[in-house]
Amino acid sequence: MADRIKIAVIPGDGIGPEIMEQALLVLNAAGEKFGFKADIRVLLAGGASIDEYGIPLTGETLDACRSSDAVLLGAVGGPKWDNVDPGIRPEKALLGLRSGLGLYANLRPAKLFGELSHASPIKGIKDTDILFVRELTGGIYFGKSGEYTSEDLLPDGTPYGNVAFDTETYSEGEIRRILKIAFDAAGGRRRKLSLVDKANVLTTSRLWRKIFNEMAAEHPSIETECLYVDNCSMQLISRPSDFDVIVTSNMFGDILSDEAGMITGSVGMLPSASLGAPGKPGLFEPIHGSAPDIAGTGKANPCAAILSVAMMLRYAFNYNDAAHAIERAVSKTISDGYRTADIYSGRPEEKISDLCEITLAIIKNIG
Ligand code: NAD
Repeated sequence: MADRIKIAVIPGDGIGPEIMEQALLVLNAAGEKFGFKADIRVLLAGGASIDEYGIPLTGETLDACRSSDAVLLGAVGGPKWDNVDPGIRPEKALLGLRSGLGLYANLRPAKLFGELSHASPIKGIKDTDILFVRELTGGIYFGKSGEYTSEDLLPDGTPYGNVAFDTETYSEGEIRRILKIAFDAAGGRRRKLSLVDKANVLTTSRLWRKIFNEMAAEHPSIETECLYVDNCSMQLISRPSDFDVIVTSNMFGDILSDEAGMITGSVGMLPSASLGAPGKPGLFEPIHGSAPDIAGTGKANPCAAILSVAMMLRYAFNYNDAAHAIERAVSKTISDGYRTADIYSGRPEEKISDLCEITLAIIKNIG
């Protein structure tokens, strides 16, 4: 009998429902081939939830997510809700899900599909496949912050005036749990792990580095390196294909994963996973937003959502064969020339496709 997996599905707003429909077709096809059956519970969050319940995320929706094995999300937000009270903006649903599910690890692949290399701002780029592991619930975004006015003077006599501060704090426990995810991820890939920090300046970075080096000694089969964040931002441009897994703190990961995403050419191809404690549901979603400018036109690229399904099968269920099959099918479909508008460049070997056509080709390639 097929394994049954319980998935909370949040289509969201804009192109969210369109790309989710395609992602679920692919999930179903993978289930038929690899012997699992997904029990889907569709939930509202974001603008759709504001319209129905007056708030972007209800307690019932969060509870339903908590009691599922994994959560699959399309995208939330759009101009329709631009003028709602800032406290109930659609994007608040994302923060509510992240904190409500205790999602402390954000995994963002930046993979270049060879045939799309012309869309990358880096000329001649090839074979780039980086996985960012970003700490998501600690560091400077969650540290003590405040503002005050000071009567003090700077050494040159300039008055301080208003002062604002943010603080970065990391505990050993927070660092160890994210590093464990990074070492495990590297073990399942090309066995190379880079820690990015600012250990020449920051005390928190020196703690990261100490724990990283201890854990590196326990993982002799993984090649490790430590880089300063300023150096890494240059190396990502000069030698992107040398990186395998990059692990880093919340703020550095926020900035560098966006930089690496750009290298790959299109936001429509990039999935993500946010993970919490082992055994608890993770959240899987494309990195892009609800793209209201193309909603309802059939132009949305469903690949990021489909690749998010692959990440869910790998990280939530250990269905590595099914995850690989979906990823291979997406690569083959791109090699076969299928292109949604965002990745179409008008070459003769390319076939302009709407979101249903490219999904059908992906399903065919799963076999
Ligand atoms: P966006 O990612 O929605 O769109 C940016 C550009 O990329 C647009 O031109 C859009 O057409 C294009 N694009 C995005 N996804 C695409 C896809 N799958 N296929 C083809 N083209 C695609 O970012 P934005 O315009 O800044 O934000 C729109 C709304 O989405 C806002 O309300 C924003 O707050 C929200 N948002 C939500 C999330 C999320 O749900 N995780 C993330 C970012 C933004």
